[in-house]
Parts: sequence; structure tokens; C-alpha cells
Amino acid sequence: MKNMPESYWKEKLTPAQYKVLRQKATEPAFLGKYVNTKEKGVYECAACGLILFSSEQKYDSGSGWPSFSDLAAKGVIEFRDDHSYGMYRVEVACKRCGSHLGHVFQDGPTPTGQRYCINSCALNFKPENSEKDTKS
Ligand code: FE
Repeated sequence: MKNMPESYWKEKLTPAQYKVLRQKATEPAFLGKYVNTKEKGVYECAACGLILFSSEQKYDSGSGWPSFSDLAAKGVIEFRDDHSYGMYRVEVACKRCGSHLGHVFQDGPTPTGQRYCINSCALNFKPENSEKDTKS
């Protein structure tokens, strides 16, 4: 999917998603739709649908962006050096489609010590019991 032309993504994604996923924009802190989501489920790449993160590793970092201490599975993420804005950060992108997701920092909780700081609009949340009404 890395060979898809930009016109494909422009058509498929909303303008806000396109800005983040394809142009590496960062959504404003605390305004993303998944900042406070605590339901069980998985988070897919909003561009290509690859499962990237799980609610199991989601935690409240206080940063204003959805934060995860690990990936849903090994190898779903591509790491890139990012020297923009006069600092050094490690960018994280979807391994399958190459879309920008956010950054990873080394100040996360144990045991990984990692904080994947991800834009809400780069993700699609799939609740674990989506087909079932769990109210009883
Ligand atoms: Fe993707």
C-alpha cells in the first residue's frame, strides 16, 4: 500500500485525517476523539485498517493524546528519525501503508518504558463487543 498515489489517500480520508496521516500534522492536544477512551478493543490504522494498538496497552499519560506503552503486535510500526522543529524525535508510521501516526518517547510506564503518542484521527477504534449490547 506504500505505492498508492497521494490522490488515493486524498479521496479515501477526511481532510483532517489526510493532514495528519499523509502530511504529518499533529492534532491539538485534548481534542482528539480517543484521548479518554477506556473501552476494550483494538485501534486500527485509519488509512489502511492494520491493527496497531490495543486497549490493553493504552494508558493516561496526561499529554492530551492517546498513549500506548506497546504495540498490538510486533512489526506493525515503522520508526523514522524526525529532526523537524529543531528537536530530535522518533516518528512512528504504519508499516503497511507508511502513513504518519505520531511519535514514540522513552518516558512511558514499566515494563516497556515507552510512550507511543498517537493522533486520534490516525486511528479507528474497534470495540471488542461491537455486535453485542453489553448493558445488563
Ligand atoms: Fe496503515
